[in-house]
Amino acid sequence: MIVAMQETATEEQIQQIIEHLVRMGFSVHRTTGVRQSILAAVGARIDFDTRNLEVLPGVQEVHRISAPYKLVGRTFRPEGTVVKFANGLAIGNAEVVVMAGPCSVESREQLFTVAQQIAQAGARVLRGGAFKPRSSPYSFQGLGLEGLKLLREAGDKFGMLVISEVMEISQIEMMLPYVDILQVGARNMQNFNLLRELGKVKKPVLLKRGIAATLEELLLSGEYIMAGGNYDVILCERGIRTFETYTRNTMDISAIPIVKKLSHLPMTADPSHGTGRRDKVAPMARASVAAGADALLIEVHHDPDKALSDGAQSLFPQQFAQLMGELRMIAPAVGRKMA
Ligand code: PEP
Ligand code: MN
Repeated sequence: MIVAMQETATEEQIQQIIEHLVRMGFSVHRTTGVRQSILAAVGARIDFDTRNLEVLPGVQEVHRISAPYKLVGRTFRPEGTVVKFANGLAIGNAEVVVMAGPCSVESREQLFTVAQQIAQAGARVLRGGAFKPRSSPYSFQGLGLEGLKLLREAGDKFGMLVISEVMEISQIEMMLPYVDILQVGARNMQNFNLLRELGKVKKPVLLKRGIAATLEELLLSGEYIMAGGNYDVILCERGIRTFETYTRNTMDISAIPIVKKLSHLPMTADPSHGTGRRDKVAPMARASVAAGADALLIEVHHDPDKALSDGAQSLFPQQFAQLMGELRMIAPAVGRKMA
């Protein structure tokens, strides 16, 4: 950490800051310039709040130079994390993995119809919510256990892995026999108790960025899961809330290369929630692959006008198939492969 003292700081104030830093466990190197003193504090401690120093007398500004996380940082695994599954699929390798399916599991007929079509188009993981976080308590809340059973059956039948959202700790045990990846939704990104429990689980977790979360906050949430011992964490950009109203959320494509630089964890892009509009999903999916996404999460429905959730952002199966064809052209241009 770098502490720049004010030009008017007294020698006594400077000594007080040095003592403060030493008490925090840092070794301090002082540079006295013509105008002001600069303190470089070096140490292993990462759990400090720079504001605690900024408010002390004589301090001008404080800059953190080390990341506030350890395990999710790129230096922990410079070669990158590859999340591997028993069927041979891997996320974080050369192949861009596409996860697709309806927002919610609604019925056997719906799920199997969509699953068959997306599998044929090259999707490797079947998505579908069995527990739905809805903005209104009167909206469809999901089929629960019945939905999980349908997902497993459809995934197995069409040769896809299964991902579904876990909303609370009490659902983890129930979900484990049915899903291959546990999804943490945007609304739960900072549900630290849930993240801690998922740290104990022996299944990959896909962690979505919160609607108003910074990338550092996303990484710190990933740190909660890894700190519990579960290193199979996959991050996901799904759009953030901005002042723009044209789209449901603003899809932050830059989050992809930024996270890939700061962290070794695989990065997913969800252009469905990222835009909220079917006509904007394909362009954002193409951009995500070009920007280096390791996986995509895309909502597809065979009859989106009748979908019980997120119909407007769900692709028709034929649109999804067309998009897959386009992605197969883009992926090799950026050194990646597609199924
Ligand atoms: C979903 O994937 O259907 C979902 C609810 O996503 P998010 O948490 O990103 O809103
Ligand atoms: Mn959805």
